[in-house]
Amino acid sequence: MSLISVRDLEVRHGLLRAVRGISFDIAKGETVAFVGANGAGKTTLLRALAGAHLPLSGSVAFSGSNVTMVPSHLRVRSGIALVPEGRRLFGDLSVTENMLLGRAAHRSGNWTLDSVMEALPQLKPVRNALAKNLSGGQQQAVAIGRALMTNPALLLLDEISLGLSPAAIDLVYAAINKLIKAGTTIVLVEQNLDRAIAVADRLICMLEGSVVLEGQAKSLERVQITNAYFGLGSSRRAGGH
Ligand code: ATP
Repeated sequence: MSLISVRDLEVRHGLLRAVRGISFDIAKGETVAFVGANGAGKTTLLRALAGAHLPLSGSVAFSGSNVTMVPSHLRVRSGIALVPEGRRLFGDLSVTENMLLGRAAHRSGNWTLDSVMEALPQLKPVRNALAKNLSGGQQQAVAIGRALMTNPALLLLDEISLGLSPAAIDLVYAAINKLIKAGTTIVLVEQNLDRAIAVADRLICMLEGSVVLEGQAKSLERVQITNAYFGLGSSRRAGGH
């Protein structure tokens, strides 16, 4: 059974059809990257999966339950955690305090403050610092840590490398790779194609709200992906699944 199953999802901003009738399934333990140009609808889709933006039509089933219209605070309790674009930390709270906010989801599991600090060791020396005084890479790590503290079954990561230095991106992705090895199911939106291909099992390319290419990340050819990215390709599926 799929962990998350999306059917004919239509999500709008007013009259704008940001996500246009998308369908896909994600299995437990899978890592799926959504790629595509600015404005393709990736963030809107992720927010709809998290319940932060309710769809106009279509359905989202999570662990076999229909959650299409379930709001975000209840979806967190059922195991869906979103690391939003721009991190959205509380700048005047410390690293530890920001992370403890994840406990509000009231979910038990292996992730505790100590195990999260082990997975994100760059945070250990700054655990008492205010979030607003951290570097971009450290802030991104806090945002991921806060999501882990909810003990999610599904982790949604939106543009986690945006605005970070290459060294900071390496650290953040080292943590993501640890999560993948631990069996976490991850859906990420990533502008950086190389990172997306390297980390994901499967790649889904969006263009103007629709899926234009989908396949195993390692078997898609670079030219197929870039064609789809810019609307030059025609194949919906490649590389099998
Ligand atoms: P980016 O990489 O720029 O974040 P994206 O693929 O994540 O792009 P979305 O941010 O989901 O795309 O945007 C999809 C479409 O919806 C775009 O046309 C965008 O302008 C529009 N849009 C996004 N957010 C809003 C909003 N709050 N109000 C109105 N239109 C919006």
